[in-house]
Amino acid sequence: MSQRISVIVIGGSHAGLAVSQKLLRQRPKAAITLISPLDEYYFNIAAPRFLVKPESLPPSKYLYSIPDAFRDYPAGSFTFVKGLVTKIDYTTKSVAVALPAGSSTAAAVSSYDFDYLVIASGSSTPATLGQEGVRLPFKATPFEDIRKAIYEAQVKLADAQRVVIGGAGPLGVEIAGELAEAPGSKKVTLVSRPNVLLEGATVAVQRTAMSLLKRKNVDVLTGTTVEEAVYEPDTQTWKVKLSTGKTYTTDAYFATTGTVPNNEFIPKGCLNPQGWVNVDEQLRVVENGVSRTDTYAVGDITCHPYRLLSRVSLQGQTVASNIAAAIEQNSRIMTYSTEAQKKMMVVPVGQSTGTGHLGGWTMFGCLVWFFKGKDFLTYEAPKFLQGQMR
Ligand SMILES: Cc1cc2nc3c(=O)[nH]c(=O)nc-3n(C[C@H](O)[C@H](O)[C@H](O)COP(=O)(O)OP(=O)(O)OC[C@H]3O[C@@H](n4cnc5c(N)ncnc54)[C@H](O)[C@@H]3O)c2cc1C
Repeated sequence: MSQRISVIVIGGSHAGLAVSQKLLRQRPKAAITLISPLDEYYFNIAAPRFLVKPESLPPSKYLYSIPDAFRDYPAGSFTFVKGLVTKIDYTTKSVAVALPAGSSTAAAVSSYDFDYLVIASGSSTPATLGQEGVRLPFKATPFEDIRKAIYEAQVKLADAQRVVIGGAGPLGVEIAGELAEAPGSKKVTLVSRPNVLLEGATVAVQRTAMSLLKRKNVDVLTGTTVEEAVYEPDTQTWKVKLSTGKTYTTDAYFATTGTVPNNEFIPKGCLNPQGWVNVDEQLRVVENGVSRTDTYAVGDITCHPYRLLSRVSLQGQTVASNIAAAIEQNSRIMTYSTEAQKKMMVVPVGQSTGTGHLGGWTMFGCLVWFFKGKDFLTYEAPKFLQGQMR
């Protein structure tokens, strides 16, 4: 039997799973190794709902075993490694992997050879890293107990009577809507640097978001920035200083803006000045201006704008098809263009309404509820896990 080609996928979230599943389904003569520090698929999209209203979504709706999702493939075609890639070495065509404490292997670091490499290491957020305010697990951090992190965040948000949120993009608006409906009549303040909410959305959507939040008694401050947020352990409160000169004393402050690339292990020649991976239209990694034929990137970690789940499936399909074509030595190459994907934004504001648009078409509140608000898309999570989304 001829030797299988080794494909290593770095990152077991939406993008890494999409590539792995879509590639396996094409039955290439390949052995895929998916490396990620969490062996569960974390459907973080629903975080605004389950962090604020834990009883509305049990963990079984947003955490899924990754190895279980691949158990039906033939032996030898798929391996999951719980680990964190710390280095890519192109001279040996291998990656170094830090293994979790107490793993079955004696060594703390292991090495895996590859023929093709897929970088799907995504991004983190300042709130996830605890850099700005209360730490909230909007993404998972390496090797942490994600259930514990979620529980601790749920308790903090439940205990907070006064909450200030920095940033009024989709996540800020969604979580403000959820907090406004949480038990205990919380005082919620949403701070927006632009003069509008949901920058980049259509005017109709921006206006609707504003009026829905006001109806829920959320205090919306536009044209305002958070200059400083300091935790005071004695009073267990945050002092949040705004650009207007006003200082808020609050039980919880957190930021909902900012994305931080997970790029520590990626050669600098592959990164743009902001730290994202340069790719060409085939999603091959571009190193020092030249496309590599052995490495692809997909999802948030790429230099493409709009770091959104809705962009991931088509990118995953593109990478899977191009690796399959390279292995089979055929010329059925797929290309990816950001512009070819319609712009959309769907933003629930609380349990039963919201706003959004698909291209230039505005969505009514009941449609937002039906599509996303009722359970924050968790009904789609199994399809993302199986790589069945288009
Ligand atoms: C709270 C929240 C809500 C969102 N809601 C929406 C929404 O409603 N609609 C939408 O379209 N988008 C939404 N997004 C954006 C969406 O989450 C991202 O676009 C999506 O997560 C990108 O997936 P990814 O797999 O590329 O990266 P990530 O989800 O960031 O996953 C990266 C994976 O790589 C792993 N990894 C990182 N470094 C290494 C390493 N060195 N070695 C091995 N593994 C590594 C990580 O542990 C993780 O498993 C939301 C984002 C947030 C934070």
